[in-house]
Amino acid sequence: MDLSELSIDRVHEGLKNKEFSCVELTKAHLEQAKAENEKFNFMVTITEEEALEQAEKVDTKIAKGEELGILEGVPYCLKDIFCTKGIKTTFSSNFTREFVPPYDATVVKKLKDEGCVLIGKTNMDEFACGASTEYSVHGPSKNPVNPEYVTGGSSGGSAAAVATNSCVFSLGTDTGGSIRQPASFCGIVGLKNTYGRVSRSGVNSMASSLDTIGPFARNCKDAAYVLSKIAGQDHNDSTTPPEEVPDYVGKIDGDVRGLKIGVPKEFFDDKVDAEVSSAVKDALKKLQDNGAELVDVDFPSIKYAIAVYYILCPAELSANLARFDGIRYGSNPETEGEGLVDYYFNARGEGFGQEIKRRIMIGTYVLSAGYYDAYYKKAQKVRTMIIEEVNRIFEKVDVMVGPTSPFPAFKIGTKSNDPLQMYLADALTVPINIAGVPSLNIPVGETKEDSLPIGMQIIGPQFSEDLILKVGRKYEGIVN
Ligand code: GLN
Repeated sequence: MDLSELSIDRVHEGLKNKEFSCVELTKAHLEQAKAENEKFNFMVTITEEEALEQAEKVDTKIAKGEELGILEGVPYCLKDIFCTKGIKTTFSSNFTREFVPPYDATVVKKLKDEGCVLIGKTNMDEFACGASTEYSVHGPSKNPVNPEYVTGGSSGGSAAAVATNSCVFSLGTDTGGSIRQPASFCGIVGLKNTYGRVSRSGVNSMASSLDTIGPFARNCKDAAYVLSKIAGQDHNDSTTPPEEVPDYVGKIDGDVRGLKIGVPKEFFDDKVDAEVSSAVKDALKKLQDNGAELVDVDFPSIKYAIAVYYILCPAELSANLARFDGIRYGSNPETEGEGLVDYYFNARGEGFGQEIKRRIMIGTYVLSAGYYDAYYKKAQKVRTMIIEEVNRIFEKVDVMVGPTSPFPAFKIGTKSNDPLQMYLADALTVPINIAGVPSLNIPVGETKEDSLPIGMQIIGPQFSEDLILKVGRKYEGIVN
């Protein structure tokens, strides 16, 4: 049995029945992470010592005959944006390359309490800005299917960690697609939750009205297990509502008979790669053959989503990054210069990469007097329009389905010098963040020539994670 390929259910059973120890399981994942990282550069820090220490604790519990929680002993990875007490957390930036947080993010605390085993921290685009994991001080991550291609981003390292069986699940953040798109490029499951469903306390803020946290996994049930442990209200994050956390795993098996699936034609226009469109349409047909009803819907405002996002996101990002001054946050500059202003200039000039500087310039511009009404305020109005349109669609249908990305993984270096091309990678994911609703990427095929994975997203109304996971699970059952 390959210990690095097991689902959460199998890990739990195997530990309980003493088929393998938690130390053996952890070592198998650590070995896998180290070997695969050589090829694909997706780990920033491997936390071997901490992992083995935790695994021993689990083994002691098993030896004493104590009951194990479902995630106890399960190896996982974290995007390097989650604060981990005593463990370096770089945000993939030169500015914070040596930052060691004094506390754990709420979700990290929760997973620690569950007894999960942290294998390490994963690569990402700097401060989560990017769609390929190329904008990283640690260098680009490479796609496990073919190292000439990107993993997607910004949580590309977390996607590659799961795709290479270096861990059973991982966590990422999705502000404009950063969980779904790398999941799609790497051929795994990735869940972007409803805004506020999972606490963001202790996770570096990118665009605060859009940021969400969610799991990567190799199947929908594993994602459900993880979500059930990380979701819920947190008094350290006032955007988490008291909304009850459903039994995602208990509700995951079911039918799609009578389910109304909205199919927006805008998701299948000529800007979407033909192979991607046809793989998603085939998947829709399979759901239809199993009793789901496909309903044509209109989502015309989707065409404004990129413009709206690339005003709101930089605006919020520029405000959030204002605290990085080389004194309170961020490392000292090489040259301090004369006086405080010089110091700030040098610290921020040396600390931030190009894409971050670009966004700070756009963000501060759209917020400045004289331009605020024309850009920021207008974008907010169009945002409301998009939200209302999505709400109207969900009055007619239960879920909406479309491709996650307009195209499969692209080659490393082909978009990194062309910001607009990179931004267009988010065309189908950002509308969902703007609306604040949940969306699940599942793999539905691969390209003929290069066998690159193709992903489909299942989008639901607010707090319908249980429903979209059920649809994803049903699809897995149909094809496997
Ligand atoms: N690619 C998008 C961006 O660069 C999304 C990033 C994210 O979701 N963190 O803004």
